[in-house]
Amino acid sequence: MQPFSYSVKFVLRGTVVTLDSRRRIIKDGCIGVDAGKIAFVKSARYRLPAEFQNAPVINVDGYIYPGLVDLHNHLAYNFLKLWKITKKFVDRYQWAGISRYGKEITAPMKLVTNANPVELMKYCEVKAMLGGATTIAGFAKFNKSYAAWLLRNVEAEQFEQESRIYTSVLKLRDEQQYLDTARKMTEGNAFIYHLAEGTSAKLHAEYDELSRYGLIRDKLVAIHCTALTAEHMKEMGRKKVKIVWSPLSNLLLYGATSDVVSAKKSRATICLGPDWSPTGSKSLLWELKVADLVNQSLNNAFTYRNLVEMVTVNPAKAIGWDDKVGTIQPGHLADLVVFDRIDDDPYRNLVLSTEGGLKLVLIGGRPRYGDLEMLAAFGIDSAEKITVDGREKAIDILEPGVAYGDIKLETVLSSLAGALANPIKAAKKLFETVSKKSAEPIRLIPLEEDEIPSLVKTRTFESFVEKNQIIGTKAATALDPLTMSEDKDFFKTLEENPNIPAYLAKLRQYAR
Ligand SMILES: [Zn+2]
Repeated sequence: MQPFSYSVKFVLRGTVVTLDSRRRIIKDGCIGVDAGKIAFVKSARYRLPAEFQNAPVINVDGYIYPGLVDLHNHLAYNFLKLWKITKKFVDRYQWAGISRYGKEITAPMKLVTNANPVELMKYCEVKAMLGGATTIAGFAKFNKSYAAWLLRNVEAEQFEQESRIYTSVLKLRDEQQYLDTARKMTEGNAFIYHLAEGTSAKLHAEYDELSRYGLIRDKLVAIHCTALTAEHMKEMGRKKVKIVWSPLSNLLLYGATSDVVSAKKSRATICLGPDWSPTGSKSLLWELKVADLVNQSLNNAFTYRNLVEMVTVNPAKAIGWDDKVGTIQPGHLADLVVFDRIDDDPYRNLVLSTEGGLKLVLIGGRPRYGDLEMLAAFGIDSAEKITVDGREKAIDILEPGVAYGDIKLETVLSSLAGALANPIKAAKKLFETVSKKSAEPIRLIPLEEDEIPSLVKTRTFESFVEKNQIIGTKAATALDPLTMSEDKDFFKTLEENPNIPAYLAKLRQYAR
């Protein structure tokens, strides 16, 4: 076979977990892929369509799922390790206001988003992909045009002329912002919003304010909703609001999570999102395990299928992309993930799978990651080799011909590790670049702000660091490992957290 080009036709054969409206599972199924899209999905018993007669058939020997869709992340922070939390908070404004947060989270984030923005984004995309995601929200913006995305970027991708997705992590500020948001929703745009994060009843005011402007409606994708009551959930279900649940982050910070049982009773669409690495799971794959444990404590209010729906079809519906991603159907994008078979129930299989079991990731039909022999079946032998969970894998993050498309994972890892091990050196280099150049270097802007603030130019390095609030604690910060199998500290930090329920210690048992 010729080296792979994703404009060619090919067929994937394995057990197809479609997540389509009938939730079909095709035990021995074939998916035809043509020019990055799914051309057909059928049982292997039937003949291939004439135009696929000569197409290569790749036997994956595993379960094929739609690529996972993550609607709650903050990628600019995902290089940080799990944060040591020593007290219980009641809302998000509390922890974001303590000085330790500024030193341990904000300052290193500012350094890396300015000193190594492209490497940082690539690192965070790879981390999400190794956890099964092919679509993600929470991309920080670049200050300059950037096209070397690896995953589908919810905020930047517009699929030509179609409606955009808007997000706001920050609370809407004034009447104008509420009115603008109402108009965007009326125009058909989804709005992803952090709502009532914490346990304090004072947070109900955030809900009331949305309600006053008519924003409790179908286009609202509400993240957290932890402080909301069963009554709120009932109304949200009736008004077809979409909810994004992030149990690990909630339990670590607040010792409680959203009333998902009431949300389910009200038939609200529930999605699952890992939030970010300082207080959440490394990826959707691990947030599924947290959800599994919480669900057990709720007398299994959700089935395994429900949990898998929360990372596939539900988030796709929530942002109006259900005609493109989140299910395996003809006409959809060929964003597919293949996992080893470790359980007879394909849904339980995904919940129990760890990173090592991810055999193949296709984005738009293009193989981006997988077992060596899997990529070899596509004729790819030049991709970078990495070891995950003791298994040899290969990864291709290159985007030939696109600015910043030539950076390899090896470079990404060494640059980031270098900057974190020696933040002063990285900051000095940034200071010199900013001082010398008239135009600003490419930078990653972590929050949705209308105007992107420039780096403050100063005469001395000391004032540069102070004015821009970069570096933080002078102690080196280690890079959060890409996968749980490499992470020696995660479970320990988790178990030392004073807020989590005892059952979360069982999370260790999913590591294999
Ligand atoms: Zn968040």
